[in-house]
Amino acid sequence: MAAETVDTAGLHDWITRFGAAVAEKREWLTELDSAIGDADHGANMARGMSAVSEKLASSAPAAADDLLKTAGMTLVSSVGGASGPLYGTFFLRMGMAAGAVQELDAPALAAALRAGLEGIVARGKAEPGDKTLLDAMSPAVDAFDAALAGGGDLAEAAKNAAVAAATGRDATLPLVARKGRASYLGERSAGHLDPGAASTALLFESLDATIAAG
Ligand SMILES: [Mg+2]
Repeated sequence: MAAETVDTAGLHDWITRFGAAVAEKREWLTELDSAIGDADHGANMARGMSAVSEKLASSAPAAADDLLKTAGMTLVSSVGGASGPLYGTFFLRMGMAAGAVQELDAPALAAALRAGLEGIVARGKAEPGDKTLLDAMSPAVDAFDAALAGGGDLAEAAKNAAVAAATGRDATLPLVARKGRASYLGERSAGHLDPGAASTALLFESLDATIAAG
């Protein structure tokens, strides 16, 4: 039976898996960004998550909030472009919501994910449908909540969130970008996946893998 909580080591595992995923998909993320942006998303995310892994390896915090805030601050300070501040804000806000605890149960993780999402909304001023990472993250966090509201456990919530993020990523294909660099292309941004939504799908795929392994 899968665990009903995720502890600080589990959150660290999630971040490590996400780092490995963006490193593995680096070329693909860059390809997506070269179609509608400035071709740096893969490199930026891989560099940022590599910096996070190094930072956490040198001093792994014991509390969930310290771990998430360290990840967020490292991303903000090591990644240029929009993705560093956005992902950094996500982890920072998650940490603030999590508090100085050693483990999060499903509702606490849901609340932290929601706080991270709201931080991105406040920072990026984008809305669902603008062809940004929110198009994967918003349905993922909604699906996580909906699974718990329907009586599902942590594993089901994480699985449903991963599926919703991937579906949201794929749904960015026909969209015309209204935020970020891709919006400069107008109608020509349609027909390409949003690179931020693609990396966010990896984020939730990684969370699902961590929970399933726990
Ligand atoms: Mg870019």
